[in-house]
Amino acid sequence: MRSIYLDHNATTPLLLEAADAMRRTEAEAFGNPASAHHIGRAARRALEDARERIAALLGASPDEVTFTSGATEANNLAVFALAGGRVTASPIEHPCVVEPLRQLETRGFAVDWWPANSRGLVAPSPVHADARLVCVMLANHETGAIQPVREIAAALPTKTALHCDAVQAVGKFPVNFRELGVTTLTASAHKFGGPKGVGVLLAKRGTKLHPLLFGGHQQQGKRPGTESAPLAAGMAAALDHATRNMPANLAKLTALRARLWERLCELGPVVLNGPEIGATDVVPTTLNVSFPGCRADLLLMALDLAGVACSTGSACSSGSLLPSPVLRAMGLSDELLHSALRFSLSPRLELDDIDEAASRISSVLRPMWKFATL
Ligand code: PLP
Repeated sequence: MRSIYLDHNATTPLLLEAADAMRRTEAEAFGNPASAHHIGRAARRALEDARERIAALLGASPDEVTFTSGATEANNLAVFALAGGRVTASPIEHPCVVEPLRQLETRGFAVDWWPANSRGLVAPSPVHADARLVCVMLANHETGAIQPVREIAAALPTKTALHCDAVQAVGKFPVNFRELGVTTLTASAHKFGGPKGVGVLLAKRGTKLHPLLFGGHQQQGKRPGTESAPLAAGMAAALDHATRNMPANLAKLTALRARLWERLCELGPVVLNGPEIGATDVVPTTLNVSFPGCRADLLLMALDLAGVACSTGSACSSGSLLPSPVLRAMGLSDELLHSALRFSLSPRLELDDIDEAASRISSVLRPMWKFATL
């Protein structure tokens, strides 16, 4: 049986272009970028070239780009560096933003949580006069809802920093660091066809970043540790490829998302969680659906056996039976919370894949729905 992967928000397969760039860089510039000799200097050149390309593609300057091991590290770095006593955050952030904030709460910091509405959009209000940091992601990992980050940035007092987790947005639709007006922004290569284990933190020039790690002078001491030129080159190649193909990819994803929803609606009383089909404030990679009367964890396992890979929420919380905090913040009933699945798409899928997935979902769902009504 052919497997159908509908979990691209968890991770994406490596693009050929990224693999080629990594192989080439490892062959031609395998050295330590900190070494003074010519082999080290070649690695330094490859690293700085990747930094410049990523900066240009995201509307930042090269000196505003810090390479990290991924977005979890980058989000932790931003939150711990910028939180000055009081923070405001959206309640739909990824666990790698929420958990650092919870850590800060245990150290006496105050965290104010904005509400979210039933479409999965944060509902901002004026921040507390003492707030030094606001955290709002750009595109939500579970619903795809695009948050009004630019409007939030424009309304904030200048003394308040704005951190934006743009992991599910970068490589999917145009993201311009400067135009968004945020202080810091994070991205992760493996979400757009790049390698796992590399991400970036963009930080506006002049932002003080206190390191999480100590023991080296790399990246101006903000993130010590030997940089990987091959991983950086792979990330730059993937971002370049995603950006060049963005209009075609967005059109394809929009059609795939609409088709999946249409097919699921034919199965029975399904409920869409997040922005509706045709909405402009959603990344069309993501379709979150509740199947009332079914337990999402059982459905997920049955679908896995049927060769369809999807998710009940962020990959970091998979394995946990706790309902999604994102959907809970949107005010979903227990019934809808416990029956929600996230399907996340890639432009490499075809309409036939969607039809085949829907047909397998139908065969798995029918007996479960029948059982639920007995
Ligand atoms: N932020 C969001 C919105 C995510 O979806 C993820 C991954 O699921 C992360 C951060 C963490 O990224 P990484 O896997 O690079 O640590």
